[in-house]
Amino acid sequence: MKLDFIGIGGAFNPKLGSNCAYIKEKDKILFIDMGLDSFYKIIKHHILKDIKEIYIIITHLHGDHVGGLPTFLQYTYSILNIQTNIIKNSETFTKNLCTILDLTGVKKDNYQFIENNNFPFSFNYKLKTTTHTPLLECYSIIFEKDNQMILYTSDSNDINYIKEKIEDKNITKIYTEVGENSPVHIEYKQLKQLPKEKLILMHIQSMELLKKIKRDHYKVPKYLK
Ligand SMILES: [Zn+2]
Repeated sequence: MKLDFIGIGGAFNPKLGSNCAYIKEKDKILFIDMGLDSFYKIIKHHILKDIKEIYIIITHLHGDHVGGLPTFLQYTYSILNIQTNIIKNSETFTKNLCTILDLTGVKKDNYQFIENNNFPFSFNYKLKTTTHTPLLECYSIIFEKDNQMILYTSDSNDINYIKEKIEDKNITKIYTEVGENSPVHIEYKQLKQLPKEKLILMHIQSMELLKKIKRDHYKVPKYLK
C-alpha cells in the first residue's frame, strides 16, 4: 500500500497545492479528497491513464478538500465514462456532500456512494472522527493491510490523537497535517515534542513552515507540480 500525493499544502498555500493523495492498485484508484487545484494536476499528469474504477474518500467539506470534486465527477463520467464511487460516511455528511454536488450541477448518475463491504482494494479503511473545526464533521482514516496500519489524519488539531497513535505498535506510519499559530491545526511546536520516526508531514500551512520542517529533518511526501 503506497500513498502518492497530488498536493501537500494547507488551504492558503497554493505553491504546495491542495492536500490530496491517492493509492493505485492495477486499474483501480482511490483518492483522498479532491481540492481546488487537484483536478487540474490529475489531468496534467495523466493520473487516470488506464484506470477503470475510481473511488474517493472525502475527509471533510472545506473547499481545499472538496472544491475540485464537482468538476472531477463531471469529467470522469462524461469524458471517461466512469461512475465514481464515493465512500459513504455519516448520514449528515453524505447529505451535505450531495447538496454541494446538486448545487454545483453534478448529475446524480455521475457518482454513487459505496459502503465498506464493497471496497475492492487489497487493504481496508476505517474512518474516525477527529477535531478540526466545530463547524464541520471531519474524519481521519486508518488504512489496514496484513496487520499493518497507516494513519492519515486529514485536518485535525488533536495532538493527543497523534501521541496515542505514535505509541500504538500496530501503526507503522502517520501522515499528519501541520500548522502554526492556528487553533484548527496541529501546532508544529507541539508536534516537535513527539518522536518523529513514524511521522510524515503534509497539509503544510506555509513555505516558511516547510523550511523549518526540512531543516528539522522531517519526512515530507513528494507531490505533483
Ligand atoms: Zn480543513
